[in-house]
Amino acid sequence: MTKRELRAAIKARIVPMSRGRREESARKIAEKLAAFGWKGKRIMLYRALGDELDVSPAAGALAADNEVFYPAVDGEDMFAVADSEDTETGAFGIAQPVGERLNAADARLDICVVPLRAFDASCARLGRGKGYYDRFLRGADCFKVGVAYDEQQTDGLPTEPHDVPLDIVVTPTEIYRR
Ligand code: ADP
Ligand code: MG
Repeated sequence: MTKRELRAAIKARIVPMSRGRREESARKIAEKLAAFGWKGKRIMLYRALGDELDVSPAAGALAADNEVFYPAVDGEDMFAVADSEDTETGAFGIAQPVGERLNAADARLDICVVPLRAFDASCARLGRGKGYYDRFLRGADCFKVGVAYDEQQTDGLPTEPHDVPLDIVVTPTEIYRR
C-alpha cells in the first residue's frame, strides 16, 4: 500500500466512530497520560484537527503541574508557543497561542505529544504528509509520545530517513514502546 492508500484505509476506520467512542477514547488517553505522573516538565500538546484524537481532556491536569506548549504553524515551519489565553486562528483554522515562537530545542521541551495518521508496533509514525513534526522534532531531545486510536495501528509502516520515530504510542487500550 502507498502512504496515501494507507491514510485513506485508516481514515475509513476512524471516521465512522461514534462521538461516544471518541469521548471515551479521549478520557482513556487522559488517564494514561496522567499516570506518567509528569511534574515540572515542559510539554507540547496539540489541538485536534478533524478526526484526530482529542487530548484536551488531558490538558487541564497536565497544565496544573507542568508548562504546556501548543504548536503554531508558520508557512512550512512549526513552532512551540507557551499556552496563553491570547490565541489566534492559525493554519488549518486551529487556535494557537500568541507568543514567542520557539523551535523544539529553544523551547527546551521535555515531552512532545504528537498526533498521527498511522503507527506501527515499533512506534514508526505516518503523519498527514506535510512533514511538520518531522522537521520540528529533528534533533529535538524530548520524549516523543504518539497518541492514537487502536484502529490507527498497522504493520510495517513505510518509513523514510527523515521520519522521526516516536518513543511510545499511547492508545486507549495499549502502550507501545520503541
Ligand atoms: P508526514 O510525516 O507528515 O507523514 P512525510 O514524512 O512524508 O510526512 O514528509 C513530507 C515531506 O516533508 C517530505 O517528503 C519532505 O519533503 C519533507 N520533510 C519531512 N521531514 C523533513 C526533514 N527532516 N527535512 C527536510 N524535509 C523534510
Ligand atoms: Mg514523516
